[in-house]
Amino acid sequence: MGSSVASIPGIHHVTCITGDVQKCVDFYVSVLGLRFIKKSINQDLPDTYHIYFGDYVGTPGTAMTFFGWPTWPRQRAGSGQVTTVSFQVPGDSVAFWSQRLKRLGIDHQRLTRFGADALGLRDADGIQLELVGDASDERWVPWPDGPVDRQHAIRGFHSVALTVAEAAATVDLLTTTMGFRQVIRDGKRLRFETGPGGPHAILDLIESPEGPAGEESIGTVHHVAWRTPDAAAQGAWRDTLLKAGRNVTPVIDRWYFKSIYYREPGGVLFEIATDGPGFTVDETPEKLGTTLSLPPWFQVRRDRLDQVLPRIVVPTTATTGAH
Ligand code: ZN
Repeated sequence: MGSSVASIPGIHHVTCITGDVQKCVDFYVSVLGLRFIKKSINQDLPDTYHIYFGDYVGTPGTAMTFFGWPTWPRQRAGSGQVTTVSFQVPGDSVAFWSQRLKRLGIDHQRLTRFGADALGLRDADGIQLELVGDASDERWVPWPDGPVDRQHAIRGFHSVALTVAEAAATVDLLTTTMGFRQVIRDGKRLRFETGPGGPHAILDLIESPEGPAGEESIGTVHHVAWRTPDAAAQGAWRDTLLKAGRNVTPVIDRWYFKSIYYREPGGVLFEIATDGPGFTVDETPEKLGTTLSLPPWFQVRRDRLDQVLPRIVVPTTATTGAH
């Protein structure tokens, strides 16, 4: 094992399904203090939003994104899905976050994940989140005007937890093909790391044969995307995954990055996305998220989309109050 297996640097983004885009924006900006960095559309359902939150520029490993699908059912998260999305905060900021959530009326629980203090909470759609007190990943770019002081701010993803009915085949894909390594276990929770390891490069795998199976619905995670540096490395991943028996899509141009998709054996949808060109491909850093951003091949639809998509009001520091 090891040197012959290519390595994924970490999480690129996580995409979920919201039933109420405005409530979602209010939660991620006003409560969690992420920046609203992109207002775009779902390229496969272009009358619906795809919105993005992240650090100041949406550094790979910080972007939490949502499809706005208000007419979808609200069912349940479960096996075959990412069931928890964890963000990194400094270890000595967990108490700050607990007080902040309490002040804002957000239910949360204190817990410990492999020795790190953490908080568990749910977002506006019921998606299970954790804030983990381990922020050793220094790649983030702080949002100077954000509602949370830089010293306490979320610095991107810590990890994702996947729930699967049967772990063995997933473990095999992760370790034999994708370059992950198992580092520790806690009961049914197996922890894997990739690339440099540590926050943003962690995957927890939970085996739950008793179910229930997750449904692709409001309040669930749609997929997790893993980083790859460029198109050449992505092409190599595609070949490797096809050889391993995965059914991988062709490369799809998402405008902010290029993507391939496949399901791991437990049913969780994985994407491998290029680090570039990134969210500043069509807006300057200062203006990120301020316009409806459309890939060039969707520009002809702009007038219609302006009419059918509901308005989004992005909270500002003035409306979210002091730090
Ligand atoms: Zn994606």
